Amino acid sequence: MRSAEACKAGETEQRIHFGGRHRGFWKLTSLPPSAGDAIMGVRDEESDMAADRIEGKCLCGAVTVRMTPPQPHVEACHCGMCRRWGGGPFLSLKMVTNPQMEGSDYIARYPSSDWAERGFCKKCGTHIFYYYKPAASYSFTAGLFDSAGGFQFAEEIFIDDKPDYYDFAGQRERLTGQEVMAKFGVGGSDEAG
Ligand SMILES: [Zn+2]
Ligand SMILES: [Zn+2]
Repeated sequence: MRSAEACKAGETEQRIHFGGRHRGFWKLTSLPPSAGDAIMGVRDEESDMAADRIEGKCLCGAVTVRMTPPQPHVEACHCGMCRRWGGGPFLSLKMVTNPQMEGSDYIARYPSSDWAERGFCKKCGTHIFYYYKPAASYSFTAGLFDSAGGFQFAEEIFIDDKPDYYDFAGQRERLTGQEVMAKFGVGGSDEAG
């Protein structure tokens, strides 16, 4: 029951969620073509299948999210801001630009940088999303969605910022902050994320 379409662009999009300390990285003017396509909703038929529409909610149920992930993938960001925010790596789904959110009155948006916001439920504190303003894209916390349980853990970013006290088992793409930047031709900063 999956769409035949998929989104390589989603892979590009998802790497922009890592937030606050990467000022200057991933400006819209320096987006690679595939990322531009992603933002415009163009999909690449060569990549994985898109996931079905899924629904998630916060602990108290005041906030509900419905969206269709571009791929049935979960990714982790080990950057310092994500870990400070959540107490551990940020496990999220691929970025989307058109989610449906109910209970927005209960969502607080903390401006974690000039270009990003982190959303959480005012009532129960559940972390809902990382929002990247230049692309108007949301990375939702994977744990909101029961039906994401079968998703593939596809990628870890800012692996060089990961502390030693934890490791994820298994094989997947792991990129340092520099590699993430180099991959998109916007390198130059060796700042940890
Ligand atoms: Zn991060
Ligand atoms: Zn809540």
